[in-house]
Amino acid sequence: MAIETLVLGAGQEVGKSCVIVNINGKRIMFDCGMHMGYTDHRRFPDFSLISPSANFNDALSCIIITHFHLDHVGALVYFTEVCGYRGPVYMTYPTKALSPLMLEDYRKVMVDRRGEEELFTSEHIAECMKKVIAVDLKQTVQVDEDLQIRAYYAGHVIGAAMFYVKVGDAEMVYTGDYNMTPDRHLGAAQIDRLRLDLLITESTYATTIRDSKYAREREFLKAVHKCVSGGGKVLIPTFALGRAQELCILLDDYWERMNLKVPIYFSAGLTIQANMYYKMLIGWTSQKIKDTYSTHNAFDFKNVHKFDRSMIDAPGPCVLFATPGMISGGFSLEVFKHWAPSENNLVTLPGYCVAGTVGHKLTSGKPTKIDTDPDTQIDVRCQIHQLAFSPHTDSKGIMDLVKFLSPKHVMLVHGEKPKMASLKERIHSELGIPCYTPANNETVSIPSTHYVNAEASDTFIRNCLNPNFTFKKCNSVETCGSTLIDRNLTPELQVEDERVADGILVMENNKKAKVVHRDELLLMLDEKKHEV
Ligand SMILES: [Zn+2]
Repeated sequence: MAIETLVLGAGQEVGKSCVIVNINGKRIMFDCGMHMGYTDHRRFPDFSLISPSANFNDALSCIIITHFHLDHVGALVYFTEVCGYRGPVYMTYPTKALSPLMLEDYRKVMVDRRGEEELFTSEHIAECMKKVIAVDLKQTVQVDEDLQIRAYYAGHVIGAAMFYVKVGDAEMVYTGDYNMTPDRHLGAAQIDRLRLDLLITESTYATTIRDSKYAREREFLKAVHKCVSGGGKVLIPTFALGRAQELCILLDDYWERMNLKVPIYFSAGLTIQANMYYKMLIGWTSQKIKDTYSTHNAFDFKNVHKFDRSMIDAPGPCVLFATPGMISGGFSLEVFKHWAPSENNLVTLPGYCVAGTVGHKLTSGKPTKIDTDPDTQIDVRCQIHQLAFSPHTDSKGIMDLVKFLSPKHVMLVHGEKPKMASLKERIHSELGIPCYTPANNETVSIPSTHYVNAEASDTFIRNCLNPNFTFKKCNSVETCGSTLIDRNLTPELQVEDERVADGILVMENNKKAKVVHRDELLLMLDEKKHEV
């Protein structure tokens, strides 16, 4: 039997995550994202490859969405409401609560401001969300008799989850985006030790190893402080959810400590509403935020105010969070046009910007002019600061997770081709695990596990009961610990009983398989023991 994986998006690129996995006849779609760098047909995955006759209900067993970022959920409404998929869709509670905000914000930017053709309406978003079944972490959900799924905490953004899927004896995990280190508002990814045939992991930072986070946070705060004390304006383009809250906690805290009076603004509507959701979803944040919650809610920002469009050209320094991230259009682009020509101002960009966005142009080389459309050219004299911390795991984190889970096969998605190739090589040479990096619309087939139920003879069982203790000193994640989070708690000396079950599997026609001791086999075959 085989596990067949068709990559419809995020194959050797970042954007429109969508992977179809066929396990023993069950077909699961992991993520249904859109590409933020395109406005033509390349924006959505090519769904016709799932079913040429567009009969998606028969073609798919379920859809699993890992988190609310548009490159993971952005095509879902189109797929259910326009393409007509009616089957089950699973995501965590926060993802179900926050995805509509992201989708509605995107719809507004595209239709109301850019005058693009409407791909889905507000009603479509509401209808789509009615079809979603929300799940809790570590809750095992039986999709049907043979298909089981379970969500694990992934860090990254609030509600993000890795998903474990089991069909018969075949088991796999699709990570979505994840972070192996905690940030200001979220904990680190956490998963059980599982016996996997396949691990599909993101690889955004396939070759980056990060040093201390605090140094990089200080660098960001210093850049912002320097700009506002020189009278400049700081533009922080972010998506409404996730990075905005993390940076806000950081800035609000710093403003208190340094007693700064320069205003911090959120661009209208959505983000304020998003902060309200974060306050409600406190149970999904980091331990530190949960611990201090009774005295202070970290999402009650003291120094943050609402921004009005009329304030764009107002004099004086300020810090502004504006959507969308990566300056892919909308309000952040509008503000950028006004502020970019002054060298007093500063634009901070996330560590990773998708190809095709203004953010990507700014971070690859230092352009002095940027064309946003044939009639508009922006003079870029402002300073550009690229955030060196990110909600994605670095390459060490990916390697740690692969080592910890030790799957039989690894597949990399959501990364850049050359970097993926070097990580693939490391996984193969250092861990001895076959690794694949398919491009979009490519299929990879790997063998899946199928266990045979066998009876065991009394002699065989008795023989296995002899203990065989070994004593092990351990200090790393490879040798001990049952979950990633427990690794600091495991004792240094561990006793292991490496008992060897040495027997022979006998499979006869029309009889149940049986494991016997080697001496029994001779009897069964009516043979005498002989030496050569
Ligand atoms: Zn993401």
